[in-house]
Amino acid sequence: MRIARFTTGGDPQYGVIAGELDQFGQPAEDAQLLVLAGDPLYVGLKPTEQTLRFADVKLLAPVIPRSKVVAIGKNYADHVAEMKGVTGGDAPEEPLLFLKPNTSVIGPGDSIVYPPQTENVHFEGELAVVIGRICKDVPAAKAADVIFGFTLANDVSARDLQVKDQQWSRAKGFDTFCPLGPWIDTDLTLAEIEAGIDLKTYLEGDLKQDGTTADLIFDVARIIEHVTAAMTLLPGDVILTGTPAGVGPMQPGDEVEVTSSRLGALTNPVIKKP
Ligand code: MG
Repeated sequence: MRIARFTTGGDPQYGVIAGELDQFGQPAEDAQLLVLAGDPLYVGLKPTEQTLRFADVKLLAPVIPRSKVVAIGKNYADHVAEMKGVTGGDAPEEPLLFLKPNTSVIGPGDSIVYPPQTENVHFEGELAVVIGRICKDVPAAKAADVIFGFTLANDVSARDLQVKDQQWSRAKGFDTFCPLGPWIDTDLTLAEIEAGIDLKTYLEGDLKQDGTTADLIFDVARIIEHVTAAMTLLPGDVILTGTPAGVGPMQPGDEVEVTSSRLGALTNPVIKKP
């Protein structure tokens, strides 16, 4: 099932997108949204009688992480290779963690604001995991039990500040540097991810990243085991699983799109800070 968080002008609401996606990962033009009562992460699936036309709503970030976005660096070999000499050397021996604040999250269509402190802001298209329950010390074999679903993310990164600061908090933590969406897919399985779903990033319509989750160095279950060995995850927390090769700079005026035929498209304009 695909769960969207949306607005029609008032408070955020949640709904299930009816029907299948087309070959581009988009719902049909006349797709319906079955409105839910409350946030399904916390109250479960409670359908209402109301339906809306999917085309008539504005999508919001499908989740606002309760406490944190945990991100994994250098988790695709081809990306490790392209970053050699920029932010480091070889592939890590265990998953490399960093955090993005929940205040960096924006939704589909929202603007990525290019800060004046940097001259080199990159896109990083990624698969994102939405955690469904409070958890700690989860063995890899039980990881599926704590997953609510999956969505797409753009781990926007000020590459020059990442080098200058020698750690990544500011470079990856600016407001608007974590687009999430377009919705949460609760059916995608760990086996499908391991077999490989496509993960592509387009800048101004040009294909820049063309990856598959089959190439993840550390798979989702291993990541969850590693993260929860260190810190408690709360329902609504999000894990970004790393980016494939092809990262590159964006400029104000550009439009960036992270897509998967399995998970839809997450599109954001880039604007200069007003
Ligand atoms: Mg990343």
